[in-house]
Amino acid sequence: MSKRLDWVQEEIDNLKAAGLYNNIRTLGSPQGAWLIVDGKKVLNFCSNNYLGLANHPKMVEAAQQALTKFGVGPGAVRSIAGTMLLHSELEQRLARFKGVEAAVVLQSGFAANTAVIPVLVGKDDLIISDELNHASIIDGCRLSGAPISKYAHTDVADLERVISENKGKYRRTLVITDGVFSMDGDLAPLDKIYEVTSRHDMMLMVDDAHGEGVVGRGGRGIVDHFGLHGKVDVEVGTLSKAFGVVGGIVAGNARIIEWVRQRGRPFLFSSATPPADVAACIAAVDLLESSTELVDRLWDNARYFKEKLRGMGLDTGQSVTPITPVMLGEAPLAQQFSRELFSEHVFAMALGFPTVPQGKARIRVMISAAHSREDLDQGLEAFGKVARKLRVIQ
Ligand code: PMP
Repeated sequence: MSKRLDWVQEEIDNLKAAGLYNNIRTLGSPQGAWLIVDGKKVLNFCSNNYLGLANHPKMVEAAQQALTKFGVGPGAVRSIAGTMLLHSELEQRLARFKGVEAAVVLQSGFAANTAVIPVLVGKDDLIISDELNHASIIDGCRLSGAPISKYAHTDVADLERVISENKGKYRRTLVITDGVFSMDGDLAPLDKIYEVTSRHDMMLMVDDAHGEGVVGRGGRGIVDHFGLHGKVDVEVGTLSKAFGVVGGIVAGNARIIEWVRQRGRPFLFSSATPPADVAACIAAVDLLESSTELVDRLWDNARYFKEKLRGMGLDTGQSVTPITPVMLGEAPLAQQFSRELFSEHVFAMALGFPTVPQGKARIRVMISAAHSREDLDQGLEAFGKVARKLRVIQ
């Protein structure tokens, strides 16, 4: 037998030996506060379903109606025959909701980053990127062919340093930051970053995947949170977290949006989002515009859970959003913590190196509006029990 693929098995075995092999759990239920995971009913602290929309009856109904009217498949890429009335409607609704000139919808947040970054910069330009930016930003940056300089996480003085070291060397500069950082739940200081980029006349982009539907008035995102409408050139967002479906958004300056439609490679060369998903996203905008109830409940839940964890003596790090890390230190402890939680019917993920820095392993709790107070109390009880058992607290 040929040995030409033996290296793949060796690589997988190496992952297992290093404790880095990803055991992918399988859900036997829709998203919600409770899930069936690998056949067991567990309280869900792992999903990005911030507002509980992934299985909301109004969203399901909108998707069902679109299935009947438009069928299941988009049939083509957006630029050939894949743009249906629903796509245009969603783009207009999102632009209005977010208070931007225009928006374009892509297949995912990942696709959105790989679409927009390479149309803004190339090999003669410079990208300046927060050192903790998301993998899809990093890949979008690499695809652009532009050199990439990093600045220390959320550190505006370090951003200034990188700018001054590169002054006059490039045609254009694009500064990119995550809005909400998904490992720590901290926020980019976008107002201060804008102050710097506008002074140096540089383009500014924010990836608000975890802020979309969460931060800002009624979930309008980080630009709204800082009142920077019309100032940040382009926002990337996702429809797969708080919006509960799947898809990506590029929103902001109308010229940039038009340019993405003309030149964004995932827009031109990968088929459009299916109609049922698009219709469900329109229903999500309807829900967000009609009431702030879900966003308010999400924040109430997050505040409650975090306060109680801190009260127990657990360390929730830098989080100022519903992403709630419980800092534990070493990866084996975090992994054991997660396993113990699972045996208490609580599903919460351990994150270790290289996802987070060495010695900063944690459990990451994703709070949702779908959680009831009883759910949160049950989760807190399990955290307390496991933390005492593993001597994280007394
Ligand atoms: N950007 C950030 C900051 C994210 O956290 C994610 C999702 N993990 C994405 C982009 C990608 O979004 P999607 O899942 O819609 O591809």
